[in-house]
Amino acid sequence: MQPLVIAIDGPSGSGKSSTSRLVAERLGLAYLDTGSMYRAIALGCLDAGLLEGPDLDGIITFTRDACLDVGTDPASPSITIDGVDVTTDIRRPEVSACVSTVAVVPQVRAILTGQMRRIVEQTGRIVLEGRDTTTVVTPDAQVRVLLVANQDARMARRNAELDGISHADLTDQVVRRDRDDATVSQFETPAPGVVCVDSTEMTLDEVADAVIALVPADLR
Ligand code: C5P
Repeated sequence: MQPLVIAIDGPSGSGKSSTSRLVAERLGLAYLDTGSMYRAIALGCLDAGLLEGPDLDGIITFTRDACLDVGTDPASPSITIDGVDVTTDIRRPEVSACVSTVAVVPQVRAILTGQMRRIVEQTGRIVLEGRDTTTVVTPDAQVRVLLVANQDARMARRNAELDGISHADLTDQVVRRDRDDATVSQFETPAPGVVCVDSTEMTLDEVADAVIALVPADLR
């Protein structure tokens, strides 16, 4: 089988994760949630007390020394850090609230980008999703998609996902996080060669179909 890399970028709530997992399942590909790696590092730094300040040297050293093991089965993505399964804990609101603090550190991005590229190389056929995946992590991917949706649709999707979330937390998760992330990553407009898919009026199945339609037939 020839290598096939599909990279999907986009703002919070645009449907990156659901679309990526569905595309991976349909095409029999591995799946990499790059956000889970930033979340695991953020959780570790939070527990180690490195985010007050923040202690940038401490965060960089922690990231360099941490052992991340990312499961790439789209049916059950998982992640461990230093042998501890944090698949559930990385979704805690306090992690969502602080993940940008580690994600804006260039050295953290460089370390995690290197690890992502190794996973892509090892698996060969994979869908990866997250900030910078289409432009920095795998700019040579055969399919590169920027998934967008208007802010109302993105807020509504996050609201449905995070049942019972307050309006303040919802705004923090979607609007504030994108604003902070936008200082280091460009995910609002497509880079040259990246196809923009607007999912505002589309169902999940339709979005997955639109991405699969971009895969050259001989690579499917
Ligand atoms: O995709 P998810 O919401 O889980 O990502 C969590 C955070 O991790 C993002 O808000 C961003 O700060 C960071 N991230 C990143 N680059 C990626 C994936 C995630 O900076 N490729």
